[in-house]
This record gives sequence, C-alpha cells and structure tokens, in this order.
Amino acid sequence: MKISHIEHLGIAVESIEKALPYYEEVLGLKCYNIEVVEDQKVKTAFLKVGETKIELLEPTSPDSTIAKFIEKRGAGVHHVAFAIEDGVANALAFAEEKGVRLIDKAPRKGAEGLNIAFLHPKSTLGVLTELCEK
Ligand code: ZN
Repeated sequence: MKISHIEHLGIAVESIEKALPYYEEVLGLKCYNIEVVEDQKVKTAFLKVGETKIELLEPTSPDSTIAKFIEKRGAGVHHVAFAIEDGVANALAFAEEKGVRLIDKAPRKGAEGLNIAFLHPKSTLGVLTELCEK
C-alpha cells in the first residue's frame, strides 16, 4: 500500500466544547468543521496542522465506541489515520493477505466524506489504525 502522509490523528475527548479552548487558544490551531457522524455515534471537530488534521471525537451516546474507550482508558489519542494513495480497498486486501485483522472488510464513508476502514489494534501493536482516501 502507498501512504502519502498522516491524514489525521483521532483524539477522544469528553466534550469538544471543553477541549477546543486548549487546541485553539493554547496551540493556536483553528477548528474549521464540526460534524456528527451518526453511524459511529460521535461528534467530530477538525483542526488543521499543516497537511495533517486533528480529529476530536466526542461520544454522542453512552454505547458509542468512543464512550467505551474513554471509560476504559481515559481521554487521549484514539487512532492514527493514514492517507492511502492507491485505494483503501486495495490496502485492506493487502493488509489481510499479510495476516492483519480487519475491523472493516470494505471501505465505508467517514467524516468529511472520506472512504475509510479500520485495522484492528490487536494486529497493529496496539494502535487503532485508520486507512482513508478522498
Ligand atoms: Zn479518524
């Protein structure tokens, strides 16, 4: 698979409203989009850091995977997303061939209309890994 850069870092927060002052006022980044992704039960806020983004993830329901993550491990880095140049479907097939456990067998729509798919952290040394393409 061909990775061009880190597309974004996903960071779990209890509240976007409470997290934004740190990112905007201390780090000086700018939030340019807030979006609810219904099927993942999260509200997302995006900030740009060069070509890479920070994606803040706030659970919208107690049974959201983000709510469970915060409950278990606390707020913090949740996943790393790589921008794939030669297609998420290709990258998934390649990863599976290499013995990596997939969370998504096929690409699906994520925030910002990207095609996304996740690799299981049990197969990626503990780092939940997202593959995405425009
Ligand atoms: Zn993400």
